[in-house]
Amino acid sequence: MTGLLEKLRYARLVLTASIGLNSLMLNAQITIAEYNPTSTLVVPEHIITKAKYPFIDVHSHQLLYTTEDFNKLKMAMDTLNMKFMVDLNGGWGDKLKDKVENVRKNGMSNRMALFANIDFQGFGFVQWTEYTVDQLKEDVANGASGLKVFRELGMTHVDIHGNRIPINDVRLDPVWAACGELGIPVLIHSGAPKSFWDPMDERNERWLELYKYPSRSYANSTIPSWEQLIKEQHEVFAKHPKTTFINAHFGWHGNDLEQLSTILKKFPKMYVEFGAVIAELGRQPITAKNFFETFQDRILFGKDSWVPSEYVTYFRTLETTDEYFPYHKKYHAFWRMYGLGLSDEVLKKVYYKNALKIIPDIELSMFEK
Ligand SMILES: [Zn+2]
Repeated sequence: MTGLLEKLRYARLVLTASIGLNSLMLNAQITIAEYNPTSTLVVPEHIITKAKYPFIDVHSHQLLYTTEDFNKLKMAMDTLNMKFMVDLNGGWGDKLKDKVENVRKNGMSNRMALFANIDFQGFGFVQWTEYTVDQLKEDVANGASGLKVFRELGMTHVDIHGNRIPINDVRLDPVWAACGELGIPVLIHSGAPKSFWDPMDERNERWLELYKYPSRSYANSTIPSWEQLIKEQHEVFAKHPKTTFINAHFGWHGNDLEQLSTILKKFPKMYVEFGAVIAELGRQPITAKNFFETFQDRILFGKDSWVPSEYVTYFRTLETTDEYFPYHKKYHAFWRMYGLGLSDEVLKKVYYKNALKIIPDIELSMFEK
């Protein structure tokens, strides 16, 4: 009898040991991409789902066709306290005209504006510039409130001979000048995070993003260097001091605010918006707060991808002094964030006052002075 009991005890011991070993192995097998520890830190939390002041998002991309699409958008905007939005995908010609008309028909003219875009097809023909300037004038007459230039300029757009079109190509000069004359801002996105050009190794800060989206790596591509693209963009700013530019994504200098300060001082009509780079600010709350105080008249609210739930991270970073909270995407930022706790005066400027200065025809009655 004792023998059987001992045998049973032994069997149970072996079983427990092997289960223990298996779970140990399973735990050891997680990859760096899977590692996502739950923070044990207990500090005050302020989850802000509605901005403290009405705000204008100057960097959005919308696909709006039906009345239902517009109603859904309006509801989401109201929940966030977003009084006005710029949809950067206006296009040109008939498409732009139709889009503006659709916004009007759905009663959203006082809630959103469209920025026109440029058709780079045929770039290189002598008539291209004149035709494009005329098209832009027509688009503005049809209701476009600005021009959006996508990052393909300088990176992948080619002329009729197959050559890359540099951002500072002289054949674009009349377009930038026309925007100044028309009194419309140019929201320009040039380049990408600098890490996209760095080798994808253990030192790359965007490793996880490049692992998830390998096509974002320019390390071994024909795309010009980050420095080259930024230099070309800045030459456009220097050459067109009468045109208002909104440098998208903090001009990819969110991780070097000292350098961005130098750039802002150099180009007095250049503004910046922080679409998709809020994580850069949240990891340097002291430096970022100083930067916002110094350049409070030149910073605009931008978000980029339209995911209403992600605005919480933006409000929390700008308004609170919360500590060590997560960003909403692990592949943009594996680090935790800290709130800047901006003053009401700075918040109002960033949320709407600065945008009201440079984007034409926004109804002022929605905003307090
Ligand atoms: Zn965008």
